[in-house]
Amino acid sequence: MEGALTARDRVGIQDFVLLDTHTSETAFLGNLKKRFSEDLIYTYIGTLLVSVNPYKELDIYSKKQMDIYMGVNFFELPPHIYALADNAYHTMMAEANNHFILISGESGAGKTEASKKILQYYAVSCPSTTLLDSVRDRMLVSNPVLEAFGNAKTLKNDNSSRFGKYMDIQFDIQGDAVGGHILSYLLEKSRVVHQNHGERNFHIFYQLVEGGEEDLLHQLGLESNCQHYSYLVQDECANVTSINDKNDWKTVRNALSVIDFDESDIQHLFGIIASVLHLGNVQFEADSKGYATLNKNTELRWVSTLLGINVQVLQEGLTYRKIEAKTDEVLSPFTVDHAIYARNALAKAIYGRTFTWLVNKINDSMENKEPSRKTVIGLLDIYGFEVFYVNSFEQFCINYCNEKLQQLFIQLTLKSEQEEYEAEGIGWEPVQFFNNKIICDLVEEKHRGIISVLDEECLRPGEATDFTFLEKLEEKMGSHPHFITHKLSDKKIRKTLDRGDFRLLHYAGEVTYGVVGFIDKNNDMLYRNIKYVSLLLWSIIHVYLTDKLQFKSSLLGLTDILMSKEPWYVRCLKSNESKQPGRFDDVLVRHQVKYLGLMEHLRVRRAGFAYRRRYELFLQRYKPLCPATWPHWRGVAAEGVEVLVQHLGYLPDEYKMGRTKIFIRHPRTLFATEDAFEV
Ligand code: ATP
Ligand code: MG
Repeated sequence: MEGALTARDRVGIQDFVLLDTHTSETAFLGNLKKRFSEDLIYTYIGTLLVSVNPYKELDIYSKKQMDIYMGVNFFELPPHIYALADNAYHTMMAEANNHFILISGESGAGKTEASKKILQYYAVSCPSTTLLDSVRDRMLVSNPVLEAFGNAKTLKNDNSSRFGKYMDIQFDIQGDAVGGHILSYLLEKSRVVHQNHGERNFHIFYQLVEGGEEDLLHQLGLESNCQHYSYLVQDECANVTSINDKNDWKTVRNALSVIDFDESDIQHLFGIIASVLHLGNVQFEADSKGYATLNKNTELRWVSTLLGINVQVLQEGLTYRKIEAKTDEVLSPFTVDHAIYARNALAKAIYGRTFTWLVNKINDSMENKEPSRKTVIGLLDIYGFEVFYVNSFEQFCINYCNEKLQQLFIQLTLKSEQEEYEAEGIGWEPVQFFNNKIICDLVEEKHRGIISVLDEECLRPGEATDFTFLEKLEEKMGSHPHFITHKLSDKKIRKTLDRGDFRLLHYAGEVTYGVVGFIDKNNDMLYRNIKYVSLLLWSIIHVYLTDKLQFKSSLLGLTDILMSKEPWYVRCLKSNESKQPGRFDDVLVRHQVKYLGLMEHLRVRRAGFAYRRRYELFLQRYKPLCPATWPHWRGVAAEGVEVLVQHLGYLPDEYKMGRTKIFIRHPRTLFATEDAFEV
């Protein structure tokens, strides 16, 4: 007994629901910390998995470990991401329905790592037939490719996802992983032309320049030196110790061949990437009237060759704007600033479109064309909530996206859980929680929300500015408790805000956004003016614009996708801000525990019931264990279940009978029942 206590003292409790003395935040954090110090980064709250980023390699992701977790009851082994993956898989097989795993947490908390571990588990552990091995390989290598093009070093994370990713893994009726499909959301294209201090551009640029073979670089007109490219050296941080661009280049090259890229695809792809680097080096000078001219067009010639666009057309497009009058077309020259703006807009459009094309190519290679019935497990890994010193339109979109996911979590766990107890007539003391719907509404409400106000302002070209947008916000939001600006705040807070700022009280904390750039980024008027350059360019621009403007609706679409599936949750916590192995920053972790709503979730779980089953299903499964119900129970299912659980010796406190379902408090009760089959 004493031995057991010692072990428990050392490793803490592996499921917070069983933390029996108290449910205080302090006890919760104490348990997390204790486990973290023993390299036990996973802990459950019922079936929800909490993961704390260790910032070091742990020896817990081997094939041997996968085998240990395969097909074993959730609570019989130490908590693990494999256990969650396995549980979702077996539930999907048993119930023949669709599932999704929502991975959330702030930037650098470990979401992408978690999603990779889950994918590896399915690709390696699920039953296999040689025929399908190629699909699995493709699923696995899609990761390094997408990360190369969609991830970058930020201040928060050396490998930060700059796009949202939802991946469906399809399983056939035997449980084989037979196909996959990826949806990508809002790539942060502005990074192509601008990076904040201490950050980098997308990995692929450095990989190509540092690792690209001599022949290839020669064909693309590139120098093997990042310093040469203005899009890569704005921030003087081309080299990062944790990143090996040369090696990563090899991985990406190999991966591309696995997903069916032939040599011409590869040439095409890197031709486009190179054209972006060349574009970045195109410089303009002002003529005597202050208009932009190109005095040297070597770089532009490369762009023209690589993209197959006439150099003259390109040059005109970057230095003139076409104004369409009734019968005439007038060419109006750009200033140098405008020309730079148009150049950057083009670079972003090209990159964004390439990314979309890449995702489509990957999807083609993972597609399963068999018409047979399939079920799916969806994996959602988006960029995490982020707060920088300067926050702009990009952070606004990212943080809004995180608000939506938190809303989904609340709806599916805290809200619907409590509503179900009520509907089933189970006595219940409601647990209070902060509902972030108020913030979602503030952003997205029709005609009144921030996005609507922004869209309306964008419909007033020439008149609207970032500051009129801010004024409109002030008019509409006025006294909203989650919105403040310099003008709306009291003296003390005013000091912390610039005139061009607005601050949102997000569920995860306060973020101050600078309005400069909001109008342009939302609906780039100047940018549209270069559309006459050529049909080809227009199609690029068109994709760019529609892609961006569809952000809100695509997010709503995602919510629908998720709502139709059974949810599983991985909540990732960041252990410290300095990426140090083994350091547990109490204040930082406590803050995340708070805003992720983990305590409320625990309270609902503790007071509630871990499992519920419709009477019919429960009876169907367990009736062989009781002579009075086996083989044929003649009567109402609920009464049959009552007879059954009496026979099994369930104590009154362990279960409750609802209107249509039996509710079981602890998983161990159910496991004991499962084990009874084997006796
Ligand atoms: P973002 O929102 O910026 O994309 P993220 O939550 O996806 O962030 P990850 O990229 O998954 O964060 O993790 C950041 C880094 O933390 C990883 O590159 C890795 O070094 C470390 N890390 C995360 N999870 C683990 C883990 N389970 N074991 C070891 N290291 C980890
Ligand atoms: Mg990530």
